[in-house]
Amino acid sequence: MVWRFQANPSRVVFGWGAVEAIVEELDYIGVERVLVLSTPHQRELAETIAADLGDRAAGVHAGARMHVPVSIVDDALAAVRTTGADGCLAVGGGSTIGLGKSVARRSSLPVIAVPTTYSGSEMTPLWGETEAGVKTTGTDMKVLPSAVVYDPQLTTGLPLDLTVTSSINAVAHAVEALYSSNGSPLISLMAEESIRSIATALPIVHAERESKVGRADLLRGSWMAGTCLGSVSMGLHHKLCHTLGGALDLPHSDTHTVLLPHVMALNLSAHSAAYDAVCRALGVGDDPAGALWDLVNAVEGPTSLRELGVDEDDLLDIAATAVSAPYPNPVPLTLDNVMAVLSGAVRGVRPTSTK
Ligand code: NAD
Repeated sequence: MVWRFQANPSRVVFGWGAVEAIVEELDYIGVERVLVLSTPHQRELAETIAADLGDRAAGVHAGARMHVPVSIVDDALAAVRTTGADGCLAVGGGSTIGLGKSVARRSSLPVIAVPTTYSGSEMTPLWGETEAGVKTTGTDMKVLPSAVVYDPQLTTGLPLDLTVTSSINAVAHAVEALYSSNGSPLISLMAEESIRSIATALPIVHAERESKVGRADLLRGSWMAGTCLGSVSMGLHHKLCHTLGGALDLPHSDTHTVLLPHVMALNLSAHSAAYDAVCRALGVGDDPAGALWDLVNAVEGPTSLRELGVDEDDLLDIAATAVSAPYPNPVPLTLDNVMAVLSGAVRGVRPTSTK
């Protein structure tokens, strides 16, 4: 076995109140005035952060939208030019950070990320944009944020449903890193600790949405999961989420949450080290797929694709696409085994995994 490990350059500030360190980060990177990006929904937070930055903020552009439509990128680039900003500060989830990345890709200006969900996009050089319903993705080191400021305080307002699904979105990065075709011992350490951190914190935050310890552990886990996503290739789970999400316009993190235990039931049985690592992280002796399903169920997350609007009739095309252009996966993919994964996820049955 030969391992290769390539670390992405990353600069992270993490902690309760870390948002106050943004100016120091701008000084470190050499950015004078940032355009603060957000969704319309998070405009108030963006304006508060811009007000705190004073003359280091060039303005607020609250135009981020899901799937980063190209027209939105053009609008943000125009705002960068009009305000004379020399960088962007993306405050929000994967959609806002995605907009910041696309501006960085076109303008070569740095982006600083202030994540408020657990999507992990801030730790990756991956970008995605949509035009006329077609999503294009790629890898470009220009889009990797120059600094990431993780402040758990900004996540206390994340609604419970999105908290759960976004957390499981992060767990999905970690699980697939454990059996990745280009994984390594270092990534496996981060992946296992990420799952442990999130699985421990989710019930705490479910009971008390503003728990300081719980919120910090969810964000800490998503930082590690994002690092995994940015470092190694993903497998069947991410392929199915992209295919399903693109074809049926499903909510990103909900799709991850429903599918993950079913993909784990297939894949972990073929990868003993990953099976054991997920068991340790979830604190169970066996059946890690069933244990994750139980956790999602206990914190009231979605457990069936049917509740997201998917019909059994939609599945064959999705399975055929996944099999025809597969991501590297520990289990060779066939129409039958992919259909079994999808069918269990549509019906919302509890999967079980054995070694
Ligand atoms: P999102 O960014 O679309 O946010 C969902 C909604 O929640 C938005 O309205 C947002 O304003 C709101 N929100 C975010 N944080 C909040 C908070 N703390 N309090 C209240 N409301 C809040 O959701 P997401 O799941 O973070 O991101 C999904 C997108 O990110 C997808 O398009 C996905 O493809 C992309 N993504 C990209 C990468 C990558 O590496 N490029 C990685 C993961 C996800």
